[in-house]
This record gives sequence, C-alpha cells and structure tokens, in this order.
Amino acid sequence: MGGVAMTTKTVEALVVGAGIAGLYQLYKLREAGMQVHCVDAGSDIGGTWHWNCYPGARLDSPSYTYQYWFSDELLDQWRWSERFPTQPEIKRYLKFTADKFALHDQIQLNTRIVGADWDDSAGHWVVRSEAGEVWHAQYLVSCVGMLSAPKLPPFPGHEKFKGTIAHTARWPQGGVDLKGKKVGVVGTGATGIQVIQTIAAEVGELNVFQRTAQYAVKMDNYSLEGERGDYWRSQHENLKNNLPNTFGGFEWTLPEMDWARSLSVEERHELLESCWADGSLKMWVGTYPEVLTDAALNQEVSEFAREKIRARINNPALEEKLVPTSYGFGTYRVPLENGYYEVFSRDNVNLVDVAETPIEAFSENGLIVGGKEYELDVLVLATGFDAGTGSLTQMNIRGRDGVSLTELWSKDITSTMGLQVHGFPNLFTIAGPLAPATAFCNMPTCLQQQVDWVSDAIFHLRDNGFKSIEPSQAKQDEWVSHHDEVANMTLLVHTNAWYNGANIEGKPRRLLSYIGGVGTYRDLCAQVAESGYQGFIKAA
Ligand code: NAP
Repeated sequence: MGGVAMTTKTVEALVVGAGIAGLYQLYKLREAGMQVHCVDAGSDIGGTWHWNCYPGARLDSPSYTYQYWFSDELLDQWRWSERFPTQPEIKRYLKFTADKFALHDQIQLNTRIVGADWDDSAGHWVVRSEAGEVWHAQYLVSCVGMLSAPKLPPFPGHEKFKGTIAHTARWPQGGVDLKGKKVGVVGTGATGIQVIQTIAAEVGELNVFQRTAQYAVKMDNYSLEGERGDYWRSQHENLKNNLPNTFGGFEWTLPEMDWARSLSVEERHELLESCWADGSLKMWVGTYPEVLTDAALNQEVSEFAREKIRARINNPALEEKLVPTSYGFGTYRVPLENGYYEVFSRDNVNLVDVAETPIEAFSENGLIVGGKEYELDVLVLATGFDAGTGSLTQMNIRGRDGVSLTELWSKDITSTMGLQVHGFPNLFTIAGPLAPATAFCNMPTCLQQQVDWVSDAIFHLRDNGFKSIEPSQAKQDEWVSHHDEVANMTLLVHTNAWYNGANIEGKPRRLLSYIGGVGTYRDLCAQVAESGYQGFIKAA
C-alpha cells in the first residue's frame, strides 16, 4: 500500500463533519456515553463557516434563530453582535461551543473520508481516510452539509490562465489580495452577490459574469448591542420551542394555504411591503404559501420585487439585465443584499451578460466571451455546489452487497426522510436529500432536529438490543412519493437551480428539499420514532 502505515480503530460511531450538525452530534453521542469520533477534511472546525471565508460572507438567517438550544448556559454566555453577523463571528461561535463542551479531543481535522463499506457479517462500517486510516464503526453519521462539494464550471483551458482562480467555498484561509486588481466574478447567486457588493470598491476593475439575475431583497442588518439584543435574549425559550414547528425554521409563521386569496390585492400589497421592510428572508418564506404554488400570486409577488429592484437601478440598460423575468420570485433561493444594485453604477464595474453568449474558455490573461478577452488577475468562482448529494457521493459509500450510493444517486436521488437510505444500514445522513434541511430551512433548526432524531434512533437500538436499522424499500417508496407529491404542487420544480439539481449536468432531477414544512416534517419524524420505527428494519 505504497508505504502508508494502515491503522484500524474501532469506535461505536464515526461522525463525519465538524460543522453545526457534526459538533452537536458528537456532543449528543458522547454525553450518552458512546465511544464516538469525529473527522473533518478542513484544517479547522466550522464546516460551511470554515470553508466559505470569502469576502462578504455573512449569515442571512437572523443570528438569534441560528444557534444551539441544548444548553441554557451556552445561550446565556454567547452574545451575537449583529442580526446578520459575518462569517468570522459565526466561526467564533462554533469554536466557543467546541471549547465550552471540550469537543476538540474527539475531532480529527485534515481527514478526508474516501471510502465507507458496510460489512454485513460484522455489522459495522469500514471507513477509510485519504491518508489510509481505517475505522470500524457501528454507526456512520454523515454531517457533511448539503452545500459542501463546490461546482467547478466547465470552461476549458484553466491551466493556461496565469492569474489566480478562487472558488468561494475553497477560499484561501489567508485571503486573496484583490486591492487594485482586475477581478472577475462568475456567479450571481447568494454567494456571488455578497462577494460583488463587498469587493467592488476595493478592486481596480470588476467584471461580473452574470447568467441569471436574482430577486435580491435588501437586508436590514442592525446591532444587537443594547435593547434589541436584550429583547431577543429574553425570547430564547419561545424560540427554542417554536422554531421547529414553523414552515421554515425562522421566528415567523406562515399563514394557512388559501388565506392570501381571501385578501384584496391592496391588502396583499400591504403585507408584502411589511415583509420587504423586515429586510430578511421573511419576504421569501414568511408572506403566504401560495407564493410558491400559485402562478398568478407568484407573478404578483415577482412584479412587486421587480419594482423594488428597478427603483434601485435607474438605468434602463442595466435594469434589463439585473431585473429577473425568466422565473418567479422564490423559486430560486432568494438572496439578501446590501448595496448590490448600486455597485453596477460604479465606473470600475462592468456587467457581462453570459446568458446568451456563454463563457467560452480561459485564455492566458483572463476569460473569453463571444470572442472578446476580459483581462483578469483574479477569477472568483461563485458557481455554487453539487448540492444535497455531492458531499455524500464523493465519500464512495457502499452499502449491503457493495451497492454504491454514488451509482444509485446518479440514476435517481431517493432517501427516507433525508435521514437514511434503504440498503445502507446504520448510515445516517444529516442534511441529506429529501428533508427540509437540504434547502428549505433555517439550517440549525433542522440540523438539531435531525441530530436529535438520529441520536434517539441509536439510543433505541442500544437500549433494545438491536445492532442495526435501515428503512424498508416500501417505507422509502412511501416517503419519496409523499415528497414528490408535495414538491410537484410547487412552482420550484420548473426553475433551473441547484434546488432540483439543474445546475449539475446529468444530475437526476428532483426537488432536493422536502417542502412540506419544517414543523410537518418534524411531526412525521416524531411519529416514526413513537411507533418504534415502523417501516424500518431492525436487526438484532
Ligand atoms: P448558486 O445559487 O448555485 O449560484 C451559482 C451561480 O453561478 C449562479 O448565478 C449560476 O448561474 C452561476 N454559474 C454556474 N455555472 C456557471 C457557468 N458555467 N457560467 C456562468 N455562470 C455560472 O450558488 P451560491 O451563490 O454559492 O449559493 C448556493 C446556496 O448557498 C444559496 O442558495 C444559499 O442557500 C447558500 N448561501 C447562504 C448564504 C448565507 O446564509 N449567508 C450565503 C451564500 C450562499 P445560473 O443561475 O444561470 O446557473
């Protein structure tokens, strides 16, 4: 084996990923007295909040809803500085948590998992790292996140390019010097928008290569020092109890279906104004559910958002490019922005429309579009992710009889409640596809609910003398068909975006996230546990 010393360790549970979910999963299993180990490919803990250290990276869920609820002491000791804090602050929070609960000893960094095989006779997973380490683990809990495998666009010739290429999700921890440089950004999703609005004033020239314009909502960020912070801190108990029962895992609730139709146009307009003024994702998942199901109401909201954007631009040629018209509001993840639209009236910023004339290739000096060379010192790729599945499939997981998850999902992406896959006993997939945690949730709300469910399932097996659990094919089919039924009621299935795998060539199309609501999903998961895991096969 090429001189690599192989070591084999036995643990009860191996947790892959030391981000929000992984830290909590490690804590829960360790507190229950289990022998648990956690590995992460990163050089530090934090998951998403470690890797995505690009300029302008910032939370767009309100911080007071984006935290762990398991420890009153932690809630009491941590103070968020802002409603929408920056990436370094969120990473500090996660490190504060890991320090406080002494999690570091069980976390092994710089460790990428490259293979996991279920050994049916031994009843454990054989998990291998890139460096050749091997673990035998009864339970394999993947906490690798739904947006962790970066998408690299297919422009040929990158080896020719003499400048620097940096993907936002692999941004160098020491930063990239952009001051005065000729910079290009490909991608204008939630990430690209944050980068562009942050670097425009610092760089020499900025070429923004836009394929699809977004309905970005103006963020209302504010300090949480003083009264506002005190108020939200007084709400901890409410938030902890209520967030998991809402539609999106945020502090607001969504009215019942059909309510919006009972309002007049003016009344709906008033509601939209107040949601827009909130400066948050309330505008997306806090107005009324029909925005995502009723084409006519969606059109009304889309036009409302377009008007808001037009009012910021004041330039017909730019308006034409920056105001989305080809898809409806909310059917592509709505980004928040802070000064994004104004950036395009700067003299050093140029918007290159690559919708009709795609980027052809790299040259030595930059990118070629429509035969024209755009000279660049640095190219920022804000091109997104192989979402939901990519971070799992790249681990080469093989279940019973050597069945490959990668091959399975290259044909059809299925799971049971996003938490387990038939044929893969004792594999748990936090933030896996077909659960709200894939896209339709304020992430910590859903991640904690999933970690609690997985932990309870493991404790159930341990306390009742079972060695493994997996969903039956029938249970999985039932979930997939329920998932599809809900998904197909929405307009999201028609928009090309990472939500349904449309951003990755050849990826099977299916809405990756369960969209029946966080509260509904939680109830369904709870019913399964209360029934003693009916529909799941438990082996003694
Ligand atoms: P994304 O939404 O998938 O956007 C990728 C962008 O790259 C799109 O504009 C896409 O254009 C463009 N692109 C991809 N390939 C291209 C090509 N070959 N040529 C030209 N353009 C190309 O990815 P993202 O912006 O990284 O966001 C992903 C998700 O991360 C978000 O939806 C959100 O859930 C999360 N996020 C969260 C935060 C936060 O909480 N603060 C911040 C950032 C991101 P098309 O649309 O035409 O494909």
